Formats: sequence, C-alpha cells, structure tokens
Amino acid sequence: MVTIKDLNTRTQPNWCPGCGNYSILTALKMAVADLGLDPKNVCLTSGIGCGSKLPHWINTYGIHTIHGRGLPVATGIHLANNKLKVVSIGGDGDGYGIGLSHFVHSCRRNLDMAYFVQNNQIYGLTKGQTSPTSDKGFKTVSTPFGAIEWPIFPLSLAIEQGATFVARGFAGEIKHLTELMKQAIQHPGFAYIDILQPCVTFNKKNTYDWFKKRVYKLEETGHDPTDKSEALKKADEWNAYYDDNIPIGLFYKKDHEHYLERYEYIKDKPLVEHDISNVDITKIMEDFV
Ligand code: SF4
Repeated sequence: MVTIKDLNTRTQPNWCPGCGNYSILTALKMAVADLGLDPKNVCLTSGIGCGSKLPHWINTYGIHTIHGRGLPVATGIHLANNKLKVVSIGGDGDGYGIGLSHFVHSCRRNLDMAYFVQNNQIYGLTKGQTSPTSDKGFKTVSTPFGAIEWPIFPLSLAIEQGATFVARGFAGEIKHLTELMKQAIQHPGFAYIDILQPCVTFNKKNTYDWFKKRVYKLEETGHDPTDKSEALKKADEWNAYYDDNIPIGLFYKKDHEHYLERYEYIKDKPLVEHDISNVDITKIMEDFV
C-alpha cells in the first residue's frame, strides 16, 4: 500500500507561494497513491520550466530532460520497458512551443502514456514572457503593447491528431484533477490533460479568481466524451474569441489500439526482458567509446 507520505521527498518544492504547481504535485501524488502504484514502477519525464522541476519532488523514478523533450524521452522509456507507468509533464511553453512537434507525433502514435501540461499561459521560469497559450492582447515584457497573435488551442489539436484521452483540469480543483489523472494513467493510449495552472507571480490576468468565475465541469452537463464532434465543440468553447465559460473534465475518449499493440517484437515482452546475450554489440560500442 502506497501513501502520500511514501511519495514525499526529502527536499521541498521551491515554487513561489501560491503557485498552481503545488496543487498539481499534490494531485499527482494522490493519483499514484489511490491507484496503488508501486513508485518503482512509475517514471516521470519533464522538459524545462517551473513546472518541469516536479519530478524532483515526488518519490518515483524521474528524468528532468531538456526544453520540450520530455515526450521523446518518455517514448524511449516506454519502448524499452512498457511495464512502467510513464507520465510526462511540462509547461505550455515547453509543450506547445519548442516541444509542439513531439506533442503532435505522440498523439498520432497513440503511445500508451500520460502527458500533463501545466498551462499557466506565460513563461514563468524566465520571468514572464508571452507563451503559446497567452491571450491575444496579453501584455508582458516580450509583448509590451499586447500579443498580436491568437493562442494555440491544444485540446482540439490533440483530438484531431489522434490522442485517445483528452481532458482539461484546473489546479484550483484538486480532487477533480486527481480523478482525471487517475483515469489518464489507467487509459491504454495517449492520455493528455491540459491543466490550468495560475502563475501568481507573472500572470496577473488568469488568476484563481478569474478561473473560478468561469470553470464548469463537463460531467455535470451530460457531455458524451465518445462523441468526437461534441468534444471538438467543447474544446473550442473557451478561446480568445469568447473568453467566457471554461469547461474542465474529460472532453474525449476513444478505444483504439495503441502504438505497442502494433509492435510485434515488444508488444508482449518488454525490450529489457529480451535475451541479448548472443547479440554482438562490440562494433556499436567501438563507435561510442
Ligand atoms: Fe509558479 Fe509562476 Fe512562480 Fe513559476 S514564476 S513558480 S509558474 S508562480
């Protein structure tokens, strides 16, 4: 039996007081504990950003990679040992900016892993520049007269590109977020959650209060997540054009074969369990050493 205490680390997070990342870390610990996952069978990867420091503060395996590269490293881990529960995590700049192509390809491959994006609509670690999800007109040090671009709409992108579990959570709704994370971790396929995460230091627009006035839960509306056209409509409900109601919850879910089910050599036996004693790697090693 795994408890939250087992998942605590000796070091404490150094995020700003009130940062939404604290709730996201708590929700992830609660999800791992509720699912009874053995921490040694869970591996997190992250990119670069405030939120990407998260794997340091949960007692599972974890790799803090480079900017935008949490997903390809997660893919490698999954292909090497699909007995591990792999979760990649990172911010909106990391995942929707430099890492966007990895996001799209992970969706279309329908890799059996979870991907959680801490979406605070700003670059926090580098002190407050406009990010791919900042609203049009948003003023920051990098757009002092207001952003002239429309933001990216990642949920509709994920649905269209083949992700089979697409959801949105809110750091101000920890229990709700925990349930979404539990479902995502258990989903056989690419399970993606965009998480609204207030950056209390640099984003003075999209605050907890701002979100609380707007968010509502899809499951309380009778939304059918197996209906793709309805999911796309809901995914478009909150954007820079309307800026009003913000649905959270499960938008879309589909049963579909995931990547490894199409990979004969490793679908039933992880690569790490294959016998490679008769494979001569001398030449490869010579190239590297
Ligand atoms: Fe959190 Fe923003 Fe502080 Fe980064 S800068 S730790 S995102 S509040």
